[in-house]
Amino acid sequence: MARGLADSDFSSAELTRAHLDRIAAVDGQLNAFLHVNAEEALTAAQSVDERRAAGEELAELAGVPIAVKDIIVTVGQPTTAGSKILEGWMSPYDATVVTRLRAAGMPILGKTNLDEFAMGSSTEHSAYGPTRNPWNTDRIPGGSGGGSAAAVAAFEAPLALGTDTGGSIRQPGAVTGTVGVKPTYGGVSRYGAIAMASSLDQIGPVTRTVLDSALLHELIGGHDPRDSTSLTDEPTGLVDAARDGAKGDLSGVRIGVIKELSGEGYQAGVRARFEESLELMRQAGAEIIEVSCPSFSYALGAYYLIMPSEASSNLAKFDGVRFGLRTLPEGGPETIERVMGATRAAGFGEEVKRRIILGTYALSAGYYDAYYGSAQKVRTLIQRDFDAAFEQVDILVSPTAPTTAFALGEKLDDPLAMYLNDIATIPANLAGIPGMSLPNGLAEEDDMPSGLQLLAPARQDVRLYRIGAALEALHEGQWGAPLLSRLPEQAEGEN
Ligand code: GLN
Repeated sequence: MARGLADSDFSSAELTRAHLDRIAAVDGQLNAFLHVNAEEALTAAQSVDERRAAGEELAELAGVPIAVKDIIVTVGQPTTAGSKILEGWMSPYDATVVTRLRAAGMPILGKTNLDEFAMGSSTEHSAYGPTRNPWNTDRIPGGSGGGSAAAVAAFEAPLALGTDTGGSIRQPGAVTGTVGVKPTYGGVSRYGAIAMASSLDQIGPVTRTVLDSALLHELIGGHDPRDSTSLTDEPTGLVDAARDGAKGDLSGVRIGVIKELSGEGYQAGVRARFEESLELMRQAGAEIIEVSCPSFSYALGAYYLIMPSEASSNLAKFDGVRFGLRTLPEGGPETIERVMGATRAAGFGEEVKRRIILGTYALSAGYYDAYYGSAQKVRTLIQRDFDAAFEQVDILVSPTAPTTAFALGEKLDDPLAMYLNDIATIPANLAGIPGMSLPNGLAEEDDMPSGLQLLAPARQDVRLYRIGAALEALHEGQWGAPLLSRLPEQAEGEN
């Protein structure tokens, strides 16, 4: 699309209009968008068309439209975080990543659906109804960023932004047949991403190809003085690595298969596709080595202490005074505590309340060392497991998620079963390292997409792009076409 715009094959206004038309046709069925920003997107498109016509030098992605997960704040469009508590709230400022999209001349199509405050693996915890998987609308699109992944898979948006705290970019990528990248912690500014768990959260690209992710990552990444955890590294070389990797040569690359993340509990079809990809990479010259990360068996437990602890603190600001919803208590005096209680009772959904309670408990005096303290120690052990593994190999691989997309409603009443879907993605967040999920073919049982995860050492995101692009090229050689070309046609209907 960027090339078509540069060559004047079509204008950004035409391209943006085509995506808005597609959204109007299929989003009634998918519910990937919480807000569509037609007018502003078209105005931005026209303005970039004018700048191009005037001969201005433009960014590579100038004029290409994009969708933004609705937990990233935007001026002029509502930001709900998928919660009733923020219904109708408008941010007075743009997230840094949004400022960068606008500066590059990228029209913002709208805001995508998510699990409330990014808590979930299915987008069913959205206060605004679930998103459906474009491969099969009875299935979930993953979560929390199911809206961004479904929008990109269904060709409603060429690119999207997501956030990944425990897998919310990668797992939706896996179950929708798209590419999702969680950059190194600190590699992309979190300024303006409503915080879920600040030491784990990271914004990243949701796209259809590895090269698309590289282009977007280079654009949104890099230092931001407004985020105190922002790295000083400039995100360079990612696009070059993706282009170079596309030759499909893996000679000399040492690929580690994480023993703890591929055996029992993984769907047979997911495992079969994973084994095939290992073979494909071996044929392309890679050396496949099994590595063990014994502390990973505690990762999920540690995550579900650290994440709720940080979330309970981050969500304390939603008090009925400063943002969005205010509910008055029934009967009795309207004291600040009672207004706060009534607002939070009405505004937060069940999953959010569950995690606030968990986190508050884990942080309370008397339990702090036993729970939060132990979880932090486990976090260090997981980092050490990764360090040891990366001494033996260049990159680590696993299936992104243990299963393909499950049915809507299937795990809604069983939080633990839902949490288990993140078993393979969570260790990267605990260690701060970058990860990518790639389409890895359809599982035989249900003809639904499965994903392959690549993990690299911190600040070595470039390896994901080189090796990811190589595997993508090998897959296309094998399949004859990108996986998404097999997406069933969406029923068009009234939105
Ligand atoms: N599904 C995970 C959770 O529920 C991850 C969420 C995320 O990455 N935002 O916590």
